[in-house]
Amino acid sequence: MIELTIVQILSLVFFLGVLVFIGLRFFRRRKWVEPTSAIPDSWKNLLEKHVSYYEDLDAAHKSLFEYKTHEFLLNCKITGVEAIVEEKDKILIAASAVIPIFSFPEWKYKNLDEVLLYPDTFNESFETKGKGRRILGMVGTGYMERKMILSKKALRLGFKNETDKRNTAIHEFVHLIDKMDGKVDGIPEALLERQYVIPWVEMIERKLEEIVDRKTDINPYAHTSRIEFFAVLSEYFFERPHLLKKKHPKLYDFLTEIFDQDLTACRRHPMFIGGGR
Ligand SMILES: [Zn+2]
Repeated sequence: MIELTIVQILSLVFFLGVLVFIGLRFFRRRKWVEPTSAIPDSWKNLLEKHVSYYEDLDAAHKSLFEYKTHEFLLNCKITGVEAIVEEKDKILIAASAVIPIFSFPEWKYKNLDEVLLYPDTFNESFETKGKGRRILGMVGTGYMERKMILSKKALRLGFKNETDKRNTAIHEFVHLIDKMDGKVDGIPEALLERQYVIPWVEMIERKLEEIVDRKTDINPYAHTSRIEFFAVLSEYFFERPHLLKKKHPKLYDFLTEIFDQDLTACRRHPMFIGGGR
């Protein structure tokens, strides 16, 4: 009979632990599913009716938008929590995911498995009833990692009111884009070329001072942090690009560079600056 020393047993346990860890990581990595058919007409109608970004695209880019919408919905589960998930909600969530990365056709939200749809605002304990419910959406951390929570009411309002520079779902997807490089810091290194990082941070710091002095039309929530600044300004960029360009031209130029989209260029034309990065 083989007799093992304590050191040998501990080494064996450690080795088996490493094997289990690698195995779990391997199986957790889901297979990415690509669409193999066109989206249903009902989805196209919903995009046409509720997503003006899609409506303004030419035919070729509409097809690409439909493909990315389909791909997103094949790879991300959408679950209602005390809320009914309607087809319209799925389309609006997918559109919010696609809009910021539309110039990057290869982009995949590999850091997201599921979107939980809550009926309305919630608090930090994810309660949908009672006091202190001010949160409209969030990107999960810890045991909520790879999940996003959105308020159904805020999701719909984001696409209904297109002049208030607010869109909760786009805001949350911009946080996910920010997170793609490993840290959420308001610097989307997955999209922003290295030489622009320092000028971008300097620009944020300057603009944050203007918010303190209340010399700006930017939503004061942007002042919370660099992280929120990037997400809030992205909402402004996608909802009121002409106004942002007029009031904050340098900021507009930066966001154009980050998202590789010039939304003030002639619409119904390809709006991309380059071929995506
Ligand atoms: Zn935020």
